[in-house]
Amino acid sequence: MKFKLVCVSCSREYDPDTSPFTCPDCGSFKGTFDVIYPYEQIRTGFDGTLSNIRNKSVWEYFLPILPFKNLYSLPPLYVGGVPAFNSPNVSKYFGFENLLFKDEGRNPSASMKDRATAVAIALAQESKMKSIAAASTGNAAASLATMSASVGLKPILFVPKSIPKPKLAQLLIHGAEVIYLDCDYDTAFDLCQSACKKFGMYNRNTAVNPFTGEGKKTVALEIVSDLGEAPDAVICSVGDGCIIGGLYKGFYDLNKLGLIDRLPRLYGVQAEGAAPVARAFSENSVISPAKSVKTIADSISVGHPRDGIKALRAARNTSGEIITVSDEAILNAQGMLASKAGVFSEPAASAAIAGFLKLREAKIIGKEEKIVVLITGHGLKDIDTTMNNIKSAVDITKPDMESIARKIEKYR
Ligand SMILES: [Zn+2]
Repeated sequence: MKFKLVCVSCSREYDPDTSPFTCPDCGSFKGTFDVIYPYEQIRTGFDGTLSNIRNKSVWEYFLPILPFKNLYSLPPLYVGGVPAFNSPNVSKYFGFENLLFKDEGRNPSASMKDRATAVAIALAQESKMKSIAAASTGNAAASLATMSASVGLKPILFVPKSIPKPKLAQLLIHGAEVIYLDCDYDTAFDLCQSACKKFGMYNRNTAVNPFTGEGKKTVALEIVSDLGEAPDAVICSVGDGCIIGGLYKGFYDLNKLGLIDRLPRLYGVQAEGAAPVARAFSENSVISPAKSVKTIADSISVGHPRDGIKALRAARNTSGEIITVSDEAILNAQGMLASKAGVFSEPAASAAIAGFLKLREAKIIGKEEKIVVLITGHGLKDIDTTMNNIKSAVDITKPDMESIARKIEKYR
């Protein structure tokens, strides 16, 4: 057996060949699984350093701690390998010399969801499934539509009608079966769960499929491979909590293999109007799902966070935090990153930048620290929100040289 599944709440262990996706004793909300590998056995294959990775992808180098059997089960579209880069403009402006942005918008469907989808597709192919389903606010569905098209699997996608148009366009152009629902994401998720059970589709739903987090963790593997060490802190946005949970798992695995000697502090950022995980963190309690949520950041507009337990664990076990930012701060952060670093991030991704600014203001992160901010999706994914925010900056110029001269005079 390549790994075992362990319930995050009761620690009961399950055999992956015969177990359901979540612990029957704890239910689908509390009983999500960790994928635990035989680390002692695997670490002998590594020499305690990352020097052997050289030209290999994280998928190839870290195959022993990934849940699928064969590298060739992955979709042919290349996922990951995105740069963690420093923006001299932003660093200088804020005085953070070791600030890095990991631009996940460069993945095939323009979001970090592709990492989770790549693993789900590999497993669906290895179990000879014909269709694969997911509920999504938009990015996971767009990712599944993109990747499925490359291997001939049929994606069945449950999306709320609030999905931004560019994401819906991705689903349709890639030939997905779209279940376009007059409800919120949380209800769409429950419907998808029931449909998977009833119709026997491979279930790619975040968190209840324990392997989505195994895909997300590859970002941590990549960060450490790029830097040669763990950073001091990583900041990301939080909706369901799968990304921060996956980050934690990636650093945890690397630590177990003896490749890093400490885990970075993990900071999760939620929108004020959709913040059940942040509330549980600040009250030091368990998560109570929010009855309704409201934020312009559609990808993290989640009231019932499916990976909330792992998100809380990630922040608590690394001396990090889960914080909130306002929609206004998110839009300002989006503008800052686009105009100073040349990176266009969607609102949910921009929440991580807003979180960086808030943590900096509160001096929770230090100028000398090595910090990675995850940009989880591209800004063209939600153009309406951006245009609504900046439309006042656009005016019409008369088509004559005199008017153009007036416009550009100050730059000469
Ligand atoms: Zn359990």
